[in-house]
Amino acid sequence: MTDPQAEAVIDLDAFGANLAALSACAPSAAQMTVVKANAYGHGMVEMARAARAAGTDWLGVATLREALTLRAAGDTGDLLCWLAAPGADYAAAVEADVEVTASSVEQLAEILSAAPRRPRVQLKVDTGLSRNGALGQEWTALVAAAAQAQSGGRLEVTGVWSHFACADQPDHPANDAQEAVFVAAVDELLAAGIQPRVRHLSNSPATLTRPSAHFDLVRVGIAAYGIRPDPGMTYPTRLTPVLTLRGRLVQVKRLPAGAKVSYGQTWTAEHDTTVGLVPFGYGEGIPVSASNRAQVLTAGARVPLVGRVCMDQFVVDLGERSARRGDEVVLFGPGHDGEPTAEDWAVASGTIAYEVVTRLGDRIVRTYKGGA
Ligand SMILES: *Cc1c(COP(=O)(O)O)cnc(C)c1O
Repeated sequence: MTDPQAEAVIDLDAFGANLAALSACAPSAAQMTVVKANAYGHGMVEMARAARAAGTDWLGVATLREALTLRAAGDTGDLLCWLAAPGADYAAAVEADVEVTASSVEQLAEILSAAPRRPRVQLKVDTGLSRNGALGQEWTALVAAAAQAQSGGRLEVTGVWSHFACADQPDHPANDAQEAVFVAAVDELLAAGIQPRVRHLSNSPATLTRPSAHFDLVRVGIAAYGIRPDPGMTYPTRLTPVLTLRGRLVQVKRLPAGAKVSYGQTWTAEHDTTVGLVPFGYGEGIPVSASNRAQVLTAGARVPLVGRVCMDQFVVDLGERSARRGDEVVLFGPGHDGEPTAEDWAVASGTIAYEVVTRLGDRIVRTYKGGA
Protein backbone atom coordinates (compact mmCIF):
# COMPACT_ATOMS: atom_id res chain seq x y z
CA MET A 1 0.00 0.00 0.00
CA THR A 2 1.20 3.51 -0.68
CA ASP A 3 1.80 5.87 2.21
CA PRO A 4 -1.37 7.58 3.35
CA GLN A 5 -1.51 11.21 2.33
CA ALA A 6 -2.60 12.24 5.82
CA GLU A 7 -1.64 9.85 8.56
CA ALA A 8 -1.72 9.66 12.34
CA VAL A 9 0.82 7.16 13.60
CA ILE A 10 -0.23 6.01 17.04
CA ASP A 11 2.37 4.50 19.33
CA LEU A 12 0.65 1.93 21.51
CA ASP A 13 3.82 1.23 23.47
CA ALA A 14 3.94 4.89 24.51
CA PHE A 15 0.25 4.66 25.42
CA GLY A 16 0.88 1.57 27.58
CA ALA A 17 3.84 3.26 29.25
CA ASN A 18 1.74 6.35 30.02
CA LEU A 19 -0.98 4.19 31.57
CA ALA A 20 1.61 2.38 33.68
CA ALA A 21 3.09 5.69 34.81
CA LEU A 22 -0.36 6.98 35.73
CA SER A 23 -1.06 3.78 37.66
CA ALA A 24 2.12 4.35 39.59
CA CYS A 25 0.88 7.85 40.46
CA ALA A 26 -2.31 6.38 41.96
CA PRO A 27 -1.19 2.99 43.26
CA SER A 28 -4.13 2.47 45.60
CA ALA A 29 -6.81 3.22 43.02
CA ALA A 30 -8.14 1.30 40.05
CA GLN A 31 -7.75 2.99 36.68
CA MET A 32 -10.34 4.05 34.16
CA THR A 33 -9.05 5.04 30.72
CA VAL A 34 -11.32 7.62 29.12
CA VAL A 35 -11.81 6.90 25.41
CA LYS A 36 -14.64 9.31 24.59
CA ALA A 37 -14.59 11.44 21.44
CA ASN A 38 -12.82 8.77 19.40
CA ALA A 39 -10.24 8.43 22.17
CA TYR A 40 -9.35 12.11 21.90
CA GLY A 41 -8.92 11.62 18.16
CA HIS A 42 -6.70 8.54 18.50
CA GLY A 43 -9.34 5.95 17.46
CA MET A 44 -11.72 4.67 20.12
CA VAL A 45 -11.89 0.94 19.49
CA GLU A 46 -8.15 0.52 18.99
CA MET A 47 -7.24 2.59 22.03
CA ALA A 48 -9.83 0.77 24.15
CA ARG A 49 -8.28 -2.56 23.18
CA ALA A 50 -4.81 -1.27 23.89
CA ALA A 51 -5.89 0.09 27.26
CA ARG A 52 -7.38 -3.27 28.25
CA ALA A 53 -4.23 -5.03 27.05
CA ALA A 54 -2.20 -2.64 29.20
CA GLY A 55 -4.30 -3.68 32.20
CA THR A 56 -6.62 -0.74 32.69
CA ASP A 57 -9.57 -1.75 34.87
CA TRP A 58 -12.31 0.42 33.44
CA LEU A 59 -13.15 2.29 30.28
CA GLY A 60 -15.08 5.53 30.37
CA VAL A 61 -17.02 7.29 27.62
CA ALA A 62 -19.41 10.20 27.52
CA THR A 63 -22.25 8.80 25.43
CA LEU A 64 -24.19 5.57 25.41
CA ARG A 65 -23.57 5.31 21.69
CA GLU A 66 -19.84 5.24 22.35
CA ALA A 67 -20.33 2.56 24.99
CA LEU A 68 -22.40 0.40 22.66
CA THR A 69 -19.79 0.79 19.91
CA LEU A 70 -17.21 -0.61 22.32
CA ARG A 71 -19.46 -3.55 23.17
CA ALA A 72 -20.12 -4.21 19.48
CA ALA A 73 -16.34 -4.29 18.99
CA GLY A 74 -16.10 -7.03 21.62
CA ASP A 75 -15.19 -5.15 24.77
CA THR A 76 -16.59 -6.91 27.84
CA GLY A 77 -14.95 -5.14 30.80
CA ASP A 78 -16.19 -2.55 33.26
CA LEU A 79 -17.54 0.37 31.25
CA LEU A 80 -19.20 3.60 32.37
CA CYS A 81 -20.94 6.32 30.38
CA TRP A 82 -22.11 9.62 31.77
CA LEU A 83 -24.01 11.90 29.44
CA ALA A 84 -27.48 11.06 28.14
CA ALA A 85 -30.36 13.07 26.76
CA PRO A 86 -33.96 12.09 27.55
CA GLY A 87 -35.02 9.02 25.59
CA ALA A 88 -31.57 7.41 25.73
CA ASP A 89 -31.72 3.67 25.10
CA TYR A 90 -31.08 2.53 28.67
CA ALA A 91 -32.54 -0.86 27.79
CA ALA A 92 -29.68 -1.38 25.35
CA ALA A 93 -27.23 -0.20 28.00
CA VAL A 94 -28.50 -2.76 30.49
CA GLU A 95 -28.50 -5.55 27.92
CA ALA A 96 -24.92 -4.64 27.02
CA ASP A 97 -23.88 -4.49 30.68
CA VAL A 98 -22.90 -0.85 30.44
CA GLU A 99 -23.03 1.19 33.65
CA VAL A 100 -24.93 4.43 33.31
CA THR A 101 -24.87 7.59 35.36
CA ALA A 102 -27.83 9.27 37.05
CA SER A 103 -27.43 12.99 37.69
CA SER A 104 -30.93 13.72 38.98
CA VAL A 105 -34.06 12.05 40.35
CA GLU A 106 -35.69 12.60 36.97
CA GLN A 107 -32.90 10.81 35.15
CA LEU A 108 -32.91 7.95 37.64
CA ALA A 109 -36.62 7.49 36.96
CA GLU A 110 -35.96 7.43 33.21
CA ILE A 111 -33.33 4.74 33.69
CA LEU A 112 -35.60 2.64 35.93
CA SER A 113 -38.57 2.84 33.61
CA ALA A 114 -36.54 1.95 30.51
CA ALA A 115 -34.44 -0.84 31.98
CA PRO A 116 -35.65 -4.39 31.24
CA ARG A 117 -33.88 -5.68 34.32
CA ARG A 118 -31.88 -4.36 37.23
CA PRO A 119 -29.58 -1.60 35.86
CA ARG A 120 -26.16 -0.86 37.31
CA VAL A 121 -26.16 2.83 38.01
CA GLN A 122 -23.57 5.28 39.26
CA LEU A 123 -24.70 8.47 40.93
CA LYS A 124 -23.12 11.78 40.01
CA VAL A 125 -22.91 14.59 42.50
CA ASP A 126 -22.19 18.17 41.47
CA THR A 127 -19.37 19.34 43.76
CA GLY A 128 -18.79 22.70 42.10
CA LEU A 129 -18.33 22.30 38.35
CA SER A 130 -22.02 23.12 37.87
CA ARG A 131 -22.18 20.88 34.86
CA ASN A 132 -23.85 17.47 35.16
CA GLY A 133 -24.66 16.04 38.58
CA ALA A 134 -27.06 16.47 41.46
CA LEU A 135 -26.51 19.54 43.60
CA GLY A 136 -27.45 20.08 47.24
CA GLN A 137 -31.06 19.08 47.97
CA GLU A 138 -31.24 17.31 44.62
CA TRP A 139 -28.38 15.06 45.78
CA THR A 140 -30.26 14.24 48.98
CA ALA A 141 -33.34 13.41 46.93
CA LEU A 142 -31.33 11.32 44.45
CA VAL A 143 -29.74 9.35 47.29
CA ALA A 144 -33.18 8.68 48.79
CA ALA A 145 -34.67 7.59 45.47
CA ALA A 146 -31.69 5.35 44.71
CA ALA A 147 -31.77 3.81 48.19
CA GLN A 148 -35.46 3.03 47.85
CA ALA A 149 -35.01 1.50 44.39
CA GLN A 150 -32.02 -0.52 45.52
CA SER A 151 -33.77 -1.92 48.57
CA GLY A 152 -36.67 -2.85 46.31
CA GLY A 153 -34.24 -4.79 44.11
CA ARG A 154 -34.82 -2.51 41.14
CA LEU A 155 -31.26 -1.28 40.65
CA GLU A 156 -27.73 -1.66 41.87
CA VAL A 157 -25.81 1.48 42.76
CA THR A 158 -22.26 0.64 41.76
CA GLY A 159 -20.55 3.99 42.08
CA VAL A 160 -20.57 7.59 43.17
CA TRP A 161 -18.54 10.20 41.41
CA SER A 162 -17.92 13.83 40.56
CA HIS A 163 -15.60 15.94 38.40
CA PHE A 164 -13.11 18.72 39.13
CA ALA A 165 -13.27 22.20 37.64
CA CYS A 166 -9.69 23.36 38.31
CA ALA A 167 -7.56 20.27 38.89
CA ASP A 168 -5.05 21.58 36.35
CA GLN A 169 -4.36 24.37 38.85
CA PRO A 170 -3.34 22.24 41.86
CA ASP A 171 -3.32 25.17 44.28
CA HIS A 172 -6.72 26.45 43.27
CA PRO A 173 -9.00 26.58 46.35
CA ALA A 174 -11.84 24.96 44.39
CA ASN A 175 -10.01 21.62 44.57
CA ASP A 176 -10.15 21.34 48.36
CA ALA A 177 -13.71 22.64 48.36
CA GLN A 178 -14.89 20.11 45.77
CA GLU A 179 -13.16 17.26 47.54
CA ALA A 180 -14.85 18.19 50.82
CA VAL A 181 -18.26 18.33 49.18
CA PHE A 182 -17.57 14.95 47.59
CA VAL A 183 -16.62 13.33 50.89
CA ALA A 184 -19.81 14.67 52.49
CA ALA A 185 -21.89 13.42 49.55
CA VAL A 186 -20.37 9.95 49.87
CA ASP A 187 -21.12 9.99 53.59
CA GLU A 188 -24.72 10.80 52.82
CA LEU A 189 -24.89 7.83 50.49
CA LEU A 190 -23.34 5.49 53.04
CA ALA A 191 -25.76 6.77 55.69
CA ALA A 192 -28.62 5.84 53.37
CA GLY A 193 -27.34 2.27 53.32
CA ILE A 194 -25.71 2.34 49.89
CA GLN A 195 -22.14 1.01 49.70
CA PRO A 196 -20.99 1.57 46.15
CA ARG A 197 -18.13 -0.41 44.71
CA VAL A 198 -16.29 2.70 43.44
CA ARG A 199 -15.98 6.33 44.54
CA HIS A 200 -14.15 8.49 42.03
CA LEU A 201 -13.31 12.14 41.52
CA SER A 202 -9.94 12.47 39.78
CA ASN A 203 -9.27 13.28 36.13
CA SER A 204 -5.74 13.34 34.67
CA PRO A 205 -4.41 16.39 36.52
CA ALA A 206 -5.79 15.21 39.87
CA THR A 207 -4.35 11.74 39.24
CA LEU A 208 -0.97 13.39 38.73
CA THR A 209 -1.05 15.87 41.59
CA ARG A 210 -3.71 15.10 44.18
CA PRO A 211 -3.44 11.73 45.98
CA SER A 212 -6.16 12.70 48.49
CA ALA A 213 -8.65 12.65 45.61
CA HIS A 214 -7.77 9.23 44.20
CA PHE A 215 -10.38 7.28 46.23
CA ASP A 216 -11.14 3.88 44.59
CA LEU A 217 -10.69 4.80 40.94
CA VAL A 218 -9.06 7.50 38.83
CA ARG A 219 -10.28 8.52 35.38
CA VAL A 220 -7.40 9.29 33.05
CA GLY A 221 -7.93 10.91 29.69
CA ILE A 222 -5.52 13.42 28.19
CA ALA A 223 -2.50 12.23 30.17
CA ALA A 224 -2.92 8.68 28.85
CA TYR A 225 -2.40 10.12 25.38
CA GLY A 226 0.81 11.72 26.60
CA ILE A 227 -0.42 15.28 26.66
CA ARG A 228 -0.10 17.41 29.77
CA PRO A 229 -3.42 18.73 31.04
CA ASP A 230 -1.76 22.10 31.41
CA PRO A 231 1.52 22.84 29.64
CA GLY A 232 2.61 25.20 32.42
CA MET A 233 2.67 22.45 35.04
CA THR A 234 5.41 20.03 35.99
CA TYR A 235 4.29 16.52 36.78
CA PRO A 236 5.74 13.71 38.90
CA THR A 237 6.04 11.47 35.86
CA ARG A 238 7.06 11.64 32.24
CA LEU A 239 4.36 11.26 29.64
CA THR A 240 5.07 10.57 25.99
CA PRO A 241 2.76 11.92 23.29
CA VAL A 242 1.22 8.94 21.54
CA LEU A 243 0.17 10.45 18.22
CA THR A 244 2.36 11.68 15.38
CA LEU A 245 0.56 13.52 12.61
CA ARG A 246 2.42 13.21 9.35
CA GLY A 247 2.02 13.48 5.63
CA ARG A 248 3.99 14.41 2.55
CA LEU A 249 4.50 17.56 0.58
CA VAL A 250 2.25 17.41 -2.47
CA GLN A 251 3.85 20.34 -4.27
CA VAL A 252 7.07 22.33 -3.91
CA LYS A 253 7.68 25.46 -5.93
CA ARG A 254 9.44 28.78 -6.06
CA LEU A 255 7.49 31.97 -5.47
CA PRO A 256 8.75 35.40 -6.44
CA ALA A 257 9.03 38.20 -3.88
CA GLY A 258 5.65 39.84 -3.51
CA ALA A 259 3.63 36.66 -4.15
CA LYS A 260 0.64 36.34 -1.85
CA VAL A 261 -0.47 33.04 -0.34
CA SER A 262 -3.86 31.40 0.13
CA TYR A 263 -7.37 32.79 0.64
CA GLY A 264 -7.49 36.42 1.57
CA GLN A 265 -3.81 36.77 0.61
CA THR A 266 -2.89 37.21 4.26
CA TRP A 267 0.82 36.45 3.70
CA THR A 268 3.22 38.00 1.24
CA ALA A 269 6.65 36.62 0.30
CA GLU A 270 9.24 39.23 1.23
CA HIS A 271 11.91 37.59 -0.89
CA ASP A 272 11.92 34.94 -3.56
CA THR A 273 11.26 31.74 -1.63
CA THR A 274 10.30 28.08 -1.86
CA VAL A 275 6.92 26.99 -0.55
CA GLY A 276 5.53 23.53 0.09
CA LEU A 277 1.93 22.41 0.00
CA VAL A 278 0.77 20.22 2.91
CA PRO A 279 -2.38 18.13 2.35
CA PHE A 280 -4.04 18.87 5.68
CA GLY A 281 -6.78 21.42 6.27
CA TYR A 282 -9.71 22.00 8.53
CA GLY A 283 -11.31 18.98 6.84
CA GLU A 284 -8.69 16.96 8.70
CA GLY A 285 -9.23 18.99 11.86
CA ILE A 286 -6.43 21.53 11.49
CA PRO A 287 -7.58 24.76 13.16
CA VAL A 288 -7.89 27.78 10.88
CA SER A 289 -6.57 29.79 13.82
CA ALA A 290 -3.18 28.10 13.20
CA SER A 291 -2.91 30.15 9.99
CA ASN A 292 0.34 32.14 9.86
CA ARG A 293 1.19 30.85 13.36
CA ALA A 294 1.93 27.13 13.67
CA GLN A 295 5.01 25.28 12.42
CA VAL A 296 5.75 21.87 10.93
CA LEU A 297 8.91 19.80 10.59
CA THR A 298 10.01 19.18 7.01
CA ALA A 299 13.23 19.34 5.00
CA GLY A 300 15.11 18.95 8.29
CA ALA A 301 13.77 22.09 9.93
CA ARG A 302 10.78 23.65 11.55
CA VAL A 303 9.11 25.89 9.01
CA PRO A 304 6.11 28.20 9.38
CA LEU A 305 2.60 27.87 8.01
CA VAL A 306 1.97 30.84 5.76
CA GLY A 307 -1.41 32.13 4.70
CA ARG A 308 -4.76 30.77 5.72
CA VAL A 309 -5.41 27.09 6.44
CA CYS A 310 -7.91 25.86 3.81
CA MET A 311 -10.31 22.92 3.89
CA ASP A 312 -7.82 20.43 2.46
CA GLN A 313 -4.41 22.05 2.53
CA PHE A 314 -2.05 24.69 3.77
CA VAL A 315 1.23 26.21 2.61
CA VAL A 316 4.56 26.31 4.43
CA ASP A 317 7.49 28.61 3.71
CA LEU A 318 10.62 26.54 3.09
CA GLY A 319 12.89 29.52 2.39
CA GLU A 320 16.03 28.36 0.62
CA ARG A 321 15.83 24.78 1.87
CA SER A 322 15.83 22.10 -0.74
CA ALA A 323 12.73 19.98 -0.65
CA ARG A 324 10.86 17.83 -3.11
CA ARG A 325 7.32 16.75 -3.69
CA GLY A 326 6.87 13.62 -1.56
CA ASP A 327 9.13 14.71 1.31
CA GLU A 328 7.81 13.91 4.76
CA VAL A 329 6.07 16.60 6.80
CA VAL A 330 5.47 16.10 10.50
CA LEU A 331 2.82 18.44 11.88
CA PHE A 332 3.24 17.30 15.45
CA GLY A 333 4.47 14.36 17.48
CA PRO A 334 6.35 13.58 20.69
CA GLY A 335 8.90 16.27 19.86
CA HIS A 336 11.87 13.91 20.02
CA ASP A 337 13.09 14.70 16.51
CA GLY A 338 12.51 18.43 16.65
CA GLU A 339 8.92 18.34 15.48
CA PRO A 340 6.33 20.51 17.24
CA THR A 341 3.98 18.89 19.75
CA ALA A 342 0.19 19.08 19.97
CA GLU A 343 0.81 21.45 22.88
CA ASP A 344 2.82 23.72 20.56
CA TRP A 345 -0.05 23.67 18.07
CA ALA A 346 -2.47 24.53 20.85
CA VAL A 347 -0.45 27.56 21.86
CA ALA A 348 -0.04 28.66 18.24
CA SER A 349 -3.76 28.26 17.58
CA GLY A 350 -5.04 29.85 20.78
CA THR A 351 -6.66 26.65 22.02
CA ILE A 352 -5.94 23.69 24.31
CA ALA A 353 -4.12 20.53 23.25
CA TYR A 354 -7.26 18.49 24.07
CA GLU A 355 -8.95 20.24 21.15
CA VAL A 356 -6.00 19.87 18.78
CA VAL A 357 -6.06 16.06 18.96
CA THR A 358 -9.81 15.59 19.41
CA ARG A 359 -10.57 17.52 16.21
CA LEU A 360 -8.57 15.08 14.07
CA GLY A 361 -11.18 13.70 11.71
CA ASP A 362 -11.83 10.54 9.75
CA ARG A 363 -10.02 11.79 6.65
CA ILE A 364 -6.85 10.91 8.54
CA VAL A 365 -5.63 7.34 8.25
CA ARG A 366 -4.70 6.02 11.68
CA THR A 367 -1.83 3.55 11.78
CA TYR A 368 -1.05 1.70 15.00
CA LYS A 369 2.40 0.50 15.96
CA GLY A 370 3.65 -1.46 18.96
CA GLY A 371 1.35 -2.75 21.64
CA ALA A 372 2.10 -6.41 20.94
C1 LIG B 1 -13.27 13.77 29.85
C2 LIG B 1 -13.47 13.33 31.23
C3 LIG B 1 -12.41 12.81 31.99
C4 LIG B 1 -10.98 12.81 31.53
O1 LIG B 1 -10.44 14.10 31.71
P1 LIG B 1 -8.90 14.38 31.40
O2 LIG B 1 -8.66 15.76 31.83
O3 LIG B 1 -8.75 14.21 29.92
O4 LIG B 1 -8.14 13.37 32.15
C5 LIG B 1 -12.69 12.30 33.24
N1 LIG B 1 -13.95 12.31 33.72
C6 LIG B 1 -14.97 12.84 33.04
C7 LIG B 1 -16.32 12.85 33.63
C8 LIG B 1 -14.78 13.38 31.78
O5 LIG B 1 -15.81 13.91 31.11
